[in-house]
Amino acid sequence: MGTRLELRDLTVELPTPTGWVRPVDSVSFALGEGEALAVVGESGSGKTMLALALMGLLPPGARAAGDARLQDASANGNGPAGHAHITPAPSASLSDSPRHASGKNLLTASPAEMRALRGRRIAMIFQEPMTALNPMMRAGAQIAEAIRAHERGLAAEEVRRRVLRALERAAVPEPERRARQYPHELSGGLRQRVMIAMALAAGPGLLIADEPTTALDVTAQKQILDLLETLRRELRLSLLFITHDLGVAARVAERVGVMYAGRIVEEGAATDVFRRPAHPYTTGLLRAAPGLGRNKLESIPGTVPPLNALPPGCAFAPRCALHAAACDTAVPELISVREDDGHRARCILAGGKA
Ligand code: SF4
Repeated sequence: MGTRLELRDLTVELPTPTGWVRPVDSVSFALGEGEALAVVGESGSGKTMLALALMGLLPPGARAAGDARLQDASANGNGPAGHAHITPAPSASLSDSPRHASGKNLLTASPAEMRALRGRRIAMIFQEPMTALNPMMRAGAQIAEAIRAHERGLAAEEVRRRVLRALERAAVPEPERRARQYPHELSGGLRQRVMIAMALAAGPGLLIADEPTTALDVTAQKQILDLLETLRRELRLSLLFITHDLGVAARVAERVGVMYAGRIVEEGAATDVFRRPAHPYTTGLLRAAPGLGRNKLESIPGTVPPLNALPPGCAFAPRCALHAAACDTAVPELISVREDDGHRARCILAGGKA
């Protein structure tokens, strides 16, 4: 399997009146072709800022460092007319790379380079489609605009054909009628499908989905998750799925990275992380997660600390029932929970080494 995206020490800093803070701190992982990785954590953990850094959409004044390589276009198996086979998921750690991704560093790309990459190579969908859709334009016209942004010379009939194909691929019923409708005339689930159609219209190999089902009812949520799974298999699409919902993460992803206060605190195969969590924060998230078969839900005491007042050692220490003096000396490293299975946790108790 080729690597679609490889992050090395991705760090984002934001200016504040009291100095720079790091909403994303030294995040590393590799994402293979056709693979789904879920980044989970509470609000304020840094997940969305990570996604915005990859899209070149950081807020003014922010600065990013590290390496975020997107595979070269020549090796990209997807495309506007792309067809692909299912590829097996790796069992490696998040930061292991099946094959080095030698392409463009997204963090140093110019605004013009990012405009060329967005849509064509990397796309993003959001929790609320109305933030991305223009309420004054018909759905079909917006998808056509996304197609023309990357292929200017296309004949009108070809654009129309591709718009309908994009809607069909996103399982939008009656695509010709829906293409003529405005976003406010569509249900929440249909708006999300139109946004997926628009995001994939120019054939990107990597889709970042930021809480795409959070605003939907249970039925529409299931339909969108099923659709993303189908698209991932059929298009060999790599999916970076951002969510606070562990039940959703367990459904969509083979691998999981748990974020807390800007850092990955646990990573590994979804089955390992969810069945045998090694970081107390992950254990807390699982106990608080509806839909994972628990009768009684428990909340994690306290909140994510402000980024300008992080504890000197483990950032989770103020909320951790297992906290000990040794947790405060330095930020714990990610250490292996067991040998060679890629399951790692940023806790001094992980792997029984403390
Ligand atoms: S390092 Fe200490 S405070 Fe942090 S999660 Fe582990 S036990 Fe808790």
